[in-house]
Amino acid sequence: MHISDKIEILAESAKFDLCGSFLCSQEAIKRKPSISGWIYPTVLPDGKTVRLLKILLSNDCIHNCYYCANRANRPFQRVTLTADELVRLFLELHRKNLVDGLFLSSAITKSPKYTMEQMLKSVEILREVHNFKGYIHLKILPESSLDYIETAIKYADRISINLEAPSEKYLKEIAPEKNFNFLLQKLETLKELYKKGLRTKAGITTQFVVGASQERDKEILNLTFNLYKNYHLSRAYFSAFQPIPLTPLSDLPPTSTWREVRLYEADFLIRKYGFDIEELVFNENGNLPPDEDPKTVWAKNHPEFFPIEINSAPYDKLIRIPGIGPAFASRIIKARRENKIKDLKELKKIGIPIEKCKNFILINGKSPSSSKNQLTLF
Ligand code: SF4
Repeated sequence: MHISDKIEILAESAKFDLCGSFLCSQEAIKRKPSISGWIYPTVLPDGKTVRLLKILLSNDCIHNCYYCANRANRPFQRVTLTADELVRLFLELHRKNLVDGLFLSSAITKSPKYTMEQMLKSVEILREVHNFKGYIHLKILPESSLDYIETAIKYADRISINLEAPSEKYLKEIAPEKNFNFLLQKLETLKELYKKGLRTKAGITTQFVVGASQERDKEILNLTFNLYKNYHLSRAYFSAFQPIPLTPLSDLPPTSTWREVRLYEADFLIRKYGFDIEELVFNENGNLPPDEDPKTVWAKNHPEFFPIEINSAPYDKLIRIPGIGPAFASRIIKARRENKIKDLKELKKIGIPIEKCKNFILINGKSPSSSKNQLTLF
């Protein structure tokens, strides 16, 4: 089969791949398969945006995860790229200045060992033969040996091990052939290598399929918090489950994208705002309240923390105010260094979402939300 035919078939499969939530949105599923549909702008940890070619080496899986489009028992056309074909495709796009980096994933074709070898071979050729210096994100298969993990660290900027569910019980509900403890052991291995100084520049990521089993947000976030704290995880991704035709879960309703959004917001509070897992507020069912963002919910549950004086509060307190994140807190601190902030109008001028924060702040000792004068300014 010609490489362009393989690409078209793989593009169809890649729409359903769950390595990044953007790929399994309904919008992405409806998208016409084409090579441009695989190129995603991605923000790296250093803040730089790169265009990544996100591609599967193969859609020919030997496993049968219930949620997955590439499961062995689902009837559709299977293809596998060779390492050389993948490299050729990538370099062609790179030469045309269409992509800056590669995100390489794969279904498990023939055996985990074979698949991992082909993925490693691809990145090795790119680095060693073609001297490619750009960004590479590589998915690690759970069965990978220590040697393979070390090679992956050598060539990739970021690696991912997808846990898919927050415990063995939930993983068995959606992927009976996968072993949760086995996956965790890989993260344990990476932790040990990290201690020895063997680490990728952009760290390790994982991913959860949200809503395909009975798991709760609290369970997902508890594990995520633990992974950030104890396993050097740099990012967790949450993928709202979308039913795929001809799979055992095809009749399950799709997970609301709001659930995914709330999980990302809570994750952000943990990673960027220093929230402890115990501070997050969950419903009685263990999920995040869907109607409001987790920081506003926390603020409403902690009236003793508010109001916060905008002209004197330290950075750590400012970022606890709903609507004010690290960037806005820094802007406030910069603005008030020159002159005291006088009113909501001045806050609005520097981009602060005043409707979100006005009930939680004081400006020079006065509550702006109770000041008719200030509110009539808008
Ligand atoms: S291992 Fe499971 S999730 Fe991965 S491609 Fe195969 S069936 Fe899909």
